[in-house]
Amino acid sequence: MAGNITLTMIKPDAVKKNYIGPILKMINEAGFRIVAMKYTKLSKEKAGEFYAVHKERSFYGELVDFMSSGPIVAAILEKENAVEDFRKLIGATDPSKADEGTIRKLYAASIGENAVHGSDSDENAAIEGDFHFSKLERF
Ligand code: ATP
Ligand code: MG
Repeated sequence: MAGNITLTMIKPDAVKKNYIGPILKMINEAGFRIVAMKYTKLSKEKAGEFYAVHKERSFYGELVDFMSSGPIVAAILEKENAVEDFRKLIGATDPSKADEGTIRKLYAASIGENAVHGSDSDENAAIEGDFHFSKLERF
């Protein structure tokens, strides 16, 4: 059965360009409920830990530098079929391949600086939610 939560991060590029508001508006209008949210900044170590699955990839160093380059907004979002529906809302990893009307099509500049993160499975949504939030920070 599909789970009902996903973890998102509004990445440093989108925060710098003042896209927090428009992105949260799209998230709300797509029917996601905010369970937890914080404005924070990842250290290089924490960014490396979050994306450890990509450790062997050529872009890992670049990804860690970018994700620790400025503040982000992290949030747990709730909706039926959350993981899949959120990935539809954000669009393809490479914004030039993202569908019209998706968050990445509208707000991302490149495959490296692509505005938002979305969990890729229910299992990772749970792990990533625990990475950013304690039980007391969820409502
Ligand atoms: P995310 O996990 O951030 O939601 P994703 O699931 O669409 O993105 P992944 O394959 O998990 O894509 O890659 C994680 C992140 O690594 C991408 O969002 C992007 O920022 C970066 N990345 C992926 N592929 C490349 C690439 N070829 N060159 C540079 N950066 C990349
Ligand atoms: Mg991913």
